[in-house]
Amino acid sequence: MPVESTDRTYLASLRGIPASPGRAGGRVVRVAEPPPEPAPGPAPLDAAIEAARIAPAVELVVARLTARAEVATGEAKEVLEATVTMAGDPALQDRAQQLVVDRGAPAARAVWQAANQFAEILSSMGGYMAERARDVHDVRDRIVAELLGMPAPGVADLDEPAVLVAADLAPADTAGLRPGVALALVTEQGGPTSHTAILARSLGIPAVVGCSGARALADGSAVVVDGGSGAVDQVASLDEASAVRAAAADTAEWDGTGRTADGHPVPLLANIGDGDGAADAAAAGAEGVGLFRTELAFLSATEEPAPSRQRAVYDAVLGAFTGRPVTARTLDAGADKPLPFLSYDGEPNPALGVRGLRIARLAGGQAVLDRQLAALAAAAADTGVDLGVMAPMVATAEEARWFAERCRSYGIAKAGVMIEIPAAVLAADAVLAEVDFVSVGTNDLAQYLFAADRQSGPVAALNDPWQPALLRLIGMLGEASVRTGTPVGVCGEAAADPELAPVLVGLGAASLSMGPTALRAVGARLATLTLEQCRERARAALAAGTAGAARRAVAEL
Ligand code: PEP
Ligand code: MG
Repeated sequence: MPVESTDRTYLASLRGIPASPGRAGGRVVRVAEPPPEPAPGPAPLDAAIEAARIAPAVELVVARLTARAEVATGEAKEVLEATVTMAGDPALQDRAQQLVVDRGAPAARAVWQAANQFAEILSSMGGYMAERARDVHDVRDRIVAELLGMPAPGVADLDEPAVLVAADLAPADTAGLRPGVALALVTEQGGPTSHTAILARSLGIPAVVGCSGARALADGSAVVVDGGSGAVDQVASLDEASAVRAAAADTAEWDGTGRTADGHPVPLLANIGDGDGAADAAAAGAEGVGLFRTELAFLSATEEPAPSRQRAVYDAVLGAFTGRPVTARTLDAGADKPLPFLSYDGEPNPALGVRGLRIARLAGGQAVLDRQLAALAAAAADTGVDLGVMAPMVATAEEARWFAERCRSYGIAKAGVMIEIPAAVLAADAVLAEVDFVSVGTNDLAQYLFAADRQSGPVAALNDPWQPALLRLIGMLGEASVRTGTPVGVCGEAAADPELAPVLVGLGAASLSMGPTALRAVGARLATLTLEQCRERARAALAAGTAGAARRAVAEL
């Protein structure tokens, strides 16, 4: 059972954005700060000698990052390799050397300025590309620290388990972390879709981002971090913090089949983004894939990936789940995940604009959708996988029908849509009648229900998946599912919370899909409750006035 916090007196409590679920407690280790902005002068006596200092510093940084990349795997390896490429980018070095020679800037200052120019270009592109500006700043800080003779910024090698606290963690630092040694991450900056958050989830390390005041936590003090609620609580002793860890580890006994204590089946599926993620998910015991975020496989592609490349990626994912169900989502481009080859620029509110399925219907993206459907259908034929394909950002039954017809014209037998827009819930009977299944994206459904940007720290509490108004929408979908016979799954972050998962089942969810690291805890919890007990929990949560009250009402049952 999870450790309850109601009878505990915390010394201080901070709140941030939940970024990776799980509870952990331990000793705080503050991460080394990046170097300060280098002074613009004095100008070097010999500009050529000064400019020549840059290349060896870059080489050293590249060598250190490469060494880390070599021992990393999966998503972590990709991030480190991307950072290595950025660090070794000859354009960055050329520009910095030019600033030394032409403008008489000291080497550290020149690197600082050149990197900032690159980062600004990325930032102006918005969304995902803007998040990558953080990678450039990381590279900048490492090279500048080298040139100034300062210690490398970021995480030092940990000799014992610790909770890492930082202003922000560079993706390269997060990628190098080992679960069990890095017990949890707390950062003052960053949003839930930052690389830090995505990597923490893939590594199964609880994380809270956007946690203002975190840097005031003293080195060596004891904290308990709840990556599901965003709470960071200071406790009196390390023993108390460690007790949380032991209790959390005890929860996870699962036999690998998702079902309630009385045998009601609830397949537990994985959210993944590529072939490596699919292999990890299969190893973690996922019964299938409930959400293959296809756009994540192509985030850095500047052109539409050729059908052969798409098919190779899809084959790798589907191949990891032969004989089990896989649900792929068509490219969810736009807003926080702009794809360079499929963007619709210049909108004042990209999250409310032409994104997801709308690009195919309204902005000339239909041919891209068609080629993706053809590649997915081919991969299903290659692997013999039971493939479902669903569209993101569907608001109406008419859109659902249009998409389902396109899927069927490619021989895809199971066509579905994501439910992420409240209008689709209010029209649930009509939407569900058009498709073979739906999957609730609670991350976006909460964002659009509460008109609260899911990337914004100050409104994070409105995006709490325990919000009773959000649960009410899911309950309405459960009722529509009974009326229409169309199954409703949940694939947003809500499904990864072991205490909320039974509530979702009680509301009528037929399957739950989550980051693979959450499977064991969710499976174990579900196996302790009957379907009727799940329904009782759902009724208690629905009757609550606030997210906190819903949590408490369920915990008291
Ligand atoms: C969601 O919106 O809940 C979802 C699962 O999709 P994404 O997080 O990729 O937008
Ligand atoms: Mg979504």
